[in-house]
Amino acid sequence: MKINVINPLTKESLYDIEPIQEKELEEVYDKAKSIQKKIASLSVKDRAKEIVKISDYLIDHHKTICDRVVSETGKTTFEALSNELFGICDTIDYYRDQAEKILKPQKVHTSLVLMGKKSRIEFDPMGTVLIIAPWNYPLIQCFVPSILAFLAGNAVVYKPSEITPLKGLYEEILDGAGFMKDAIQIVYGGKDTGAALIEQKPDKIHFTGSTRAGKQIMEAASKNLIPVDLELGGKDPAIVFEDVNIEKTANGLVWAAFTNAGQSCTSIERCYVHESIFDEMTEKVVAITKKLRLANPDCENCEADVGCMTAEFQLKKVEEQLKDAVGRGAKVHCGGTKVEGSMIIPPTVVTEVTNDMDLITEETFGPILPLIKFSTEKEVIEMANDSEYGLSASVWSKDLKRADRVTASLKVGNVSINNHMLT
Ligand code: NAD
Repeated sequence: MKINVINPLTKESLYDIEPIQEKELEEVYDKAKSIQKKIASLSVKDRAKEIVKISDYLIDHHKTICDRVVSETGKTTFEALSNELFGICDTIDYYRDQAEKILKPQKVHTSLVLMGKKSRIEFDPMGTVLIIAPWNYPLIQCFVPSILAFLAGNAVVYKPSEITPLKGLYEEILDGAGFMKDAIQIVYGGKDTGAALIEQKPDKIHFTGSTRAGKQIMEAASKNLIPVDLELGGKDPAIVFEDVNIEKTANGLVWAAFTNAGQSCTSIERCYVHESIFDEMTEKVVAITKKLRLANPDCENCEADVGCMTAEFQLKKVEEQLKDAVGRGAKVHCGGTKVEGSMIIPPTVVTEVTNDMDLITEETFGPILPLIKFSTEKEVIEMANDSEYGLSASVWSKDLKRADRVTASLKVGNVSINNHMLT
């Protein structure tokens, strides 16, 4: 079945994608298998030279590439450039210099019972890596994992989201850059295509997306014992202590809650503020938020700070969570209702929320920032850890000893201090 792709800002229909047929899937994997031998035969240094071609191309063609990303995601041009393009180029710069060191064989200590023997760890390619991506960062979610898999000697099969497939753009970048042919192959389609790609038994799966789909993918992968990386949802807490610089911190919170219209796995979804500065911080956050310029469906090229929601189903979810919270006493300070006839939800700051609201327990993935009061360090650690999620978090304080202590108590994968979303 054809899938129609739209521009979420203008609602214009852009094109259809046709999911790949099973016979073609086999051909994709055959090609991957054969090119992988060539990739593995290259030195890591030569593979590193190959990936630089991609960043060179991205820099030279950033304008047209950003325009394509904007037209399918509804994010702002600045977000496409800073969050996606710069992110890829920065990763390439880093691994260009570090890959050889990271992948070289490592000497390891041999235990006493193996006296007289020597041990080392070697990093071998796995084979074909299947990468399945979501719609919120379609460019970086393709190139960062693909480049890392390639550097480690693997061939890549990449399936973008059916909501933002950027049809033809990946191929244009790879071909235009003169990147090794077929080392990264693109396969279009929805979740059935994703499932069919897993049936073909890749040697490894790197999945980024919802927790719901992550569970299905882990189950499908387990049938053939395929190793999986799962990068799933989040409900990130930010903890703000009483000694922070109000203005600076408020700017940081607003950015981390509303960049990409809140559609970031590690955006701030719960912000705990010390009671002694709660009113002042709320006032400042609301004042900064109200100044943000919204995207305009009638003027695609007008400058904006906040874009629109990318997917209709996500917009409905955000609206439902907000409606439920307001119905149960939450107070909306700004934003709160969709711009009529559009997919734009103005950045929304909410207080008077409780821990039994979906807005506080479920991933929202939209431009909503709930502010919650706390009084003691112990209490706020408990509140932050009281979640099914544990992707990332942030702690804001001038007292770096306290920040380190709180950081160590948070049950999350990654914590930033006096910043957010650094991964
Ligand atoms: P999604 O899980 O619906 O889809 C993600 C991808 O998986 C799509 O390409 C989809 O076609 C495919 N897919 C879905 N079900 C599948 C199945 N059963 N088998 C194979 N493929 C399947 O997620 P989404 O709505 O596109 O993205 C939003 C989610 O992604 C949010 O939960 C967000 O937090 C998460 N995310 C996480 C990170 C991270 O690094 N942790 C980064 C970005 C987004």
